[in-house]
Amino acid sequence: MQTYPLIIAGMSVPAGAHFEVRNPADGSVVGLAPKASLADLDEAVAAATAAFPSWSATPDSIRKAACHAVADTLAAHAEELARLVTLEQGKPLNGLGSRWEIGGAQAWAHYTADLELLPKVLQDDNAGRVELHRTAIGVVGSITPWNFPVMIAIWHIVPAIRAGNTVVVKPSPYTPLSTIRMVELINAVLPPGVVNCVTGDNEIGAAMSTHAGIGKIAFTGSSGTGKKIMASAAPTLKRLTLELGGNDAGIVLPDCDPKAIAEGLFWGAFINNGQTCAALKRLYVHERIHDEVCDELVAVARRTPVGNGLDEGSVLGPIQNRMQFERVRQLVDDAVAHGGRLLSGGPPPDPEGSLFYPPTLVTDLDNGVPLVDEEQFGPALPIIRYADVEAVIARANDNPNGLGGSVWSPDIEAATSVARRLRTGSVWINKHGAIQPNAPMAGVKQSGLGLSFAEEGLQEYTDVQVIFK
Ligand code: NAD
Repeated sequence: MQTYPLIIAGMSVPAGAHFEVRNPADGSVVGLAPKASLADLDEAVAAATAAFPSWSATPDSIRKAACHAVADTLAAHAEELARLVTLEQGKPLNGLGSRWEIGGAQAWAHYTADLELLPKVLQDDNAGRVELHRTAIGVVGSITPWNFPVMIAIWHIVPAIRAGNTVVVKPSPYTPLSTIRMVELINAVLPPGVVNCVTGDNEIGAAMSTHAGIGKIAFTGSSGTGKKIMASAAPTLKRLTLELGGNDAGIVLPDCDPKAIAEGLFWGAFINNGQTCAALKRLYVHERIHDEVCDELVAVARRTPVGNGLDEGSVLGPIQNRMQFERVRQLVDDAVAHGGRLLSGGPPPDPEGSLFYPPTLVTDLDNGVPLVDEEQFGPALPIIRYADVEAVIARANDNPNGLGGSVWSPDIEAATSVARRLRTGSVWINKHGAIQPNAPMAGVKQSGLGLSFAEEGLQEYTDVQVIFK
């Protein structure tokens, strides 16, 4: 049984206490994670603070090269990291699983490395010259969830260090091991203290959001936790980027070919077993093609292999943890009790002994049922029949979240005009959830604050300084 260390100031630091990290496929213990104390957190923040003056003053070209080196390090250890993600997270090695996650982390790191933070001349005339410069903030606290542990940590770490900040990252207690190992590996290409890693329970995250030594929190996780972080960051006026929960609606217009869109709809909803922020979480289908779309989705669900992520043939794995499993089960049971019709899936015969939950489709539902109104974050998709496009836009928008959405139609113009009326940070036409490093991602309403990716996302890791000459 491997015992993992904290990573502080470029060193592996043993912790005073540990906790078990379990494989959701079979309940076996994958490793022992360090349970950081508040004193350990102080040490990590002190290491990041000590590294900041020199790192923020490091020439831009060297920081850029270091970010590329981080990406190359991920590539060199891709299989090791992918297996560790599969072991602790449950997702398969294959498909849109852990190898894909590590590949995505590399792509994001390379792209972000090449972004520039050039000064902008706002005015240059007889009255004077005004320049806008961007400066690093200081120590960034990164707090990440359990669904894409390595990729999301990289989404925080690379723009933070590219802009000259130093980092303390705290992964989810459900999936800490791949982040610890990743931080250990990238420390080989970074100066000590630039990226540190502490793990422990939620208390460590809470302590980070009040810590006077941390200038910004980059948080990806649930809207509930995001609100707590925002409140506890207020006394020190920390900069915040909050990437929070979603309840993305997909609207299928009546002119779609059900066969042609079924795979896209299915993977929009079931990527990572639905445990994805911008997954399709409510599907509105026009009554003219509702039954055919349901039949096609059931066919995709039936041919999708679910199993232990280490088996090369698995395309979906288990739900990551018991709490989430019970939540999905309860939402589906409740939907069926409210008149929902189970088309595929539902809980396995022995839910107590297993976290495997088959891809589940439930129709004959409407807004007002929790499976529709709330984020399920698991492999259960509610399908809602509609007749009127105006009314369905209102129903899609009738939700406190506003992360993503999608509109499906061969008529791209008609789909775009519906898309423009959805109150979400991203909208896809004939696909769902396809994020990329050159396009900003933001949640509107209660799905977040600030944004990630691209030049705009990099700027979130800076303060603005304007020089008047
Ligand atoms: P979570 O909010 O329970 O936990 C996320 C992280 O916050 C963990 O590291 C946890 O230990 C930490 N934490 C918990 N309580 C804290 C507190 N009081 N202060 C500071 N940190 C605290 O979320 P989760 O269950 O790990 O992840 C699932 C959620 O994340 C879903 O709602 C999903 O939509 C969202 N998510 C959003 C995005 C996005 O980009 N918008 C991406 C992935 C996941």
